[in-house]
Amino acid sequence: MVGRNPFFTAVAVGAGTMVALGGSTILVSGMGIAVAKRVARTKRLKMARPCSQCGGEGYLACDVCLRACIVRCRAPRSMRDIMNDSRSRSSAARKGAEPTTAETTPAVPVYCSCPACGTSGYQRCLNCLGDGRV
Ligand SMILES: [Zn+2]
Ligand SMILES: [Zn+2]
Repeated sequence: MVGRNPFFTAVAVGAGTMVALGGSTILVSGMGIAVAKRVARTKRLKMARPCSQCGGEGYLACDVCLRACIVRCRAPRSMRDIMNDSRSRSSAARKGAEPTTAETTPAVPVYCSCPACGTSGYQRCLNCLGDGRV
């Protein structure tokens, strides 16, 4: 019975229009903000001078791995090894001797991928945040 009442129909149609208008307003304002941001960024970059830190490149050679993309890291150890080590350490401490880990752990160099640059060899310049200009 509600649908036949012209008043309710008008309200329903009105509400639908409002929702549609509201949605498109949000969409348009969102796009407007995006465009305004891009314009502001372009303007800022036009006015900006090349970054002195990276020489306008936006990226710097990774200073963690020195562009080797791999860094020397600790050898992976099993839980049993760690337990054994701590046990021998505590027994050594009781005897009053210096714990000698060099004897027990073989000095095998282990390399892993550089966590600072993700094996790219480059880091984003912190001064200009990769824009190359400040
Ligand atoms: Zn690196
Ligand atoms: Zn820079």
